[in-house]
Amino acid sequence: MLENKNPQRTSLEKMGEFGLIKHLTQNFELVQPSSLKGIGDDAAVMDFKEDKTVVSTDLLVEGVHFDLGYMPLKHLGYKSVIVNLSDIYAMNAVATQVTVSIAVSNRFGLEALEEFYDGVRTACKLYQVDLIGGDTTSSNKGMLISVTAIGTAKEEELVYRSGAKPNDLLVVSGDLGGAYLGLQVLEREKEVFKVNPNNQPDLEPYSYIVERQLKPEARKDILEILNKLEVKPTSMIDISDGLSSEILHLCEQSEVGCNLFEDKIPLDPTVISTSEEFKMDSTMIALGGGEDYELLFTIDQADFDKIKGNPNLTVIGHMTDKKEGAHLITRANTKIQLKAQGWNSFSEE
Ligand code: ADP
Ligand code: MG
Repeated sequence: MLENKNPQRTSLEKMGEFGLIKHLTQNFELVQPSSLKGIGDDAAVMDFKEDKTVVSTDLLVEGVHFDLGYMPLKHLGYKSVIVNLSDIYAMNAVATQVTVSIAVSNRFGLEALEEFYDGVRTACKLYQVDLIGGDTTSSNKGMLISVTAIGTAKEEELVYRSGAKPNDLLVVSGDLGGAYLGLQVLEREKEVFKVNPNNQPDLEPYSYIVERQLKPEARKDILEILNKLEVKPTSMIDISDGLSSEILHLCEQSEVGCNLFEDKIPLDPTVISTSEEFKMDSTMIALGGGEDYELLFTIDQADFDKIKGNPNLTVIGHMTDKKEGAHLITRANTKIQLKAQGWNSFSEE
């Protein structure tokens, strides 16, 4: 699991920039009809005809957003693409292309980048998006990754953060808190490994949450489900920073309030048992832990019958008038003001 100390290492300098790009991107093929020109010219060319174009970018920095001590490069490549696709799906759009730019120090060899692109390719294939470009450069220290995802939607299909109305139901896909707890487990094992490198960690009991951290998925399937059910969300956002901060984004941009019910928040049994083990409150983890990449959206009450009983979707609350504010209704039936305790890159820890 932990960083291989003795990998084969072919120096990047020997390859030359063009040779390197060619080598890394040789096994990618274009599958989207809108990709007219991919890698190899000064710019890529796309044609979306009558559709609207949706674009989103993320920048990931080693030591801030990922730790190669427990993040295998293949997973990192996969996850870098997934987190961007998630933003496109959160607009109710279809992701069609990505660009991937990387900066690496001379600590990285060709084999490391091959592994990274292996993950990028796996994600592209699974989600049917084309790698159409990027940039490759060196860094003085560590690795930086920037991915831009491009997608398309008909104007009337787009869903913004700003469309929620009072009395709309608040719905979330999947379950929450797993990715954050998975990270806690990996951090703990990393410390154990530092003290005793012969101690092979047993991650089996934590496999679900470790996978949520290392190999998240983007919920393209939820858009397909909603489409089949003929439900169009009134507002939507993806959960990258924890439930409470995402709810507050919807409230602020839609100018509404919200009641979130603690007993409705979907938690996997592994999340419940592991939060007990870490002496943490599982509700707090769902509210504040990041990186679950589930979709959070609101629907008109009239659509409730269409989604009820779907195992992928949980109604966790409803929107209210703005003046009522945003609250968590606890299991003990007390009302607590929601605060954005989501982790962010600028918080001091
Ligand atoms: P330029 O000098 O004009 O920036 P590059 O030599 O960097 O061009 O890129 C040549 C082609 O290779 C372009 O199509 C670019 O998008 C693509 N490319 C460069 N780096 C990457 C990368 N890391 N991943 C995917 N495509 C890349
Ligand atoms: Mg370039």
